Amino acid sequence: MPGRSQSSHDVRMRGFARRTTVADALIWLDGHGTRLSAEDVPLADAAGRVLDRVITSQVDVPAFERSMMDGFAVRAADAMGASQYNRLELDVVGQSMPGRPFDGNVQPGQAVRIMTGAPMPQGADAVLPVEVVEIQGKKILAQGDVSPGKHVGRIGEDIASGTEVLPTGRVLRPQDIGVLSSIGQADVPVVRRPRVRIVVTGNELLPAGSMSEPNKIVDSNGPMLEALVRRDGGQVINPRIVPDTPGDVLEAMRTDCDVVLVSGGSSVGQEDHAPTLVREHGELPIHGIAMRPSSPTGMGTLDGRLVFLLPGNPVSCLCAYDFFAGRAIRSLGGRAGDWPYRRVRLPLARKIVSTVGRLDYMRVKVTEGQAEPLAIAGASVLSSTTRADGFVLIPPDSEGHPPGDEVEILLYD
Ligand code: AMP
Ligand code: MG
Repeated sequence: MPGRSQSSHDVRMRGFARRTTVADALIWLDGHGTRLSAEDVPLADAAGRVLDRVITSQVDVPAFERSMMDGFAVRAADAMGASQYNRLELDVVGQSMPGRPFDGNVQPGQAVRIMTGAPMPQGADAVLPVEVVEIQGKKILAQGDVSPGKHVGRIGEDIASGTEVLPTGRVLRPQDIGVLSSIGQADVPVVRRPRVRIVVTGNELLPAGSMSEPNKIVDSNGPMLEALVRRDGGQVINPRIVPDTPGDVLEAMRTDCDVVLVSGGSSVGQEDHAPTLVREHGELPIHGIAMRPSSPTGMGTLDGRLVFLLPGNPVSCLCAYDFFAGRAIRSLGGRAGDWPYRRVRLPLARKIVSTVGRLDYMRVKVTEGQAEPLAIAGASVLSSTTRADGFVLIPPDSEGHPPGDEVEILLYD
């Protein structure tokens, strides 16, 4: 590079002398992702967030005995033996509605009209459903009997005070929000979302949404990375295309955030500034990984933040994100680091050839219960990942698989 001498670590235009194994890269990564601190968010914003601690209920739900049926609250003993042929008469002395209880005491021979969800009146211990009652003005004729406690919802039947309601690390589901509301939780302690700065480099790039122009490429990686970061619970900050100049790339990488993703310029080309910058201003212990695609991936720290240098070729960018950056973002946000993909085992329709010494990420299509490796699957062909249903990982010590071998497929959806 003119005006600047190459340091002994500068790999530009020299190629990688050696590549880190995927396994070693993951070991380094797992030592650099401590879970972020907690923040309180309003209940309405908590769905999909990760619970920071165990939630224990301080209250009983429900907090009062309530009817589970529309009918009449009675003393079960008063209706004992009642049937169609032995109809027992009771006096209706009032009613209990949801939120508007009957404030008297039910005496022997009396009944109180009651609705589902209404408080059980004192003295009554069961509900006669309307179906087993004949109403005659201010009286009812019971045509069936009930045991004590029948059709009565007990105090704490849903949640008893003191019970653990939700575990730490739970990704909150809609029904969890309902339960949290039922125990009176207005705010929820959740793990802070990792703030991820996406730095898209490439002077040939047009912003997402542009029509293509001669000699230009419309940015795929920016929008794709945004979607991946959101999927993994991160918060994307200021994603934009940055000119391929050291000053601009460095400034962008120094944004206040938790994780920096740099797309493009991660390799050993003359315009690949990010590796040199991270090395100069921070640490880049990993640059060049024994895998395909994504071998020009780098990982390090700058100002104490994790920085991922993702190759510009879109398939490599996706693969490197999924292998490393996504894992870190999920762990920082309190989620499981492992692949967020479902796994199935299927036989191969055709052979897969792989080189010993590197891990291969092979896109496959699932057809008629078989995994079909995609023929055109270069690192620049992003549509290979939309035609594919998932991918197979061939470990570094494997030469591949003959047809018919059962392989594990990680499904994209
Ligand atoms: P680089 O890693 O910057 O050397 O880029 C490798 C290849 O990926 C080049 O053909 C770039 O034009 C292409 N590329 C880089 N960034 C992007 C992007 N954001 N979207 C689509 N293609 C890209
Ligand atoms: Mg580039």
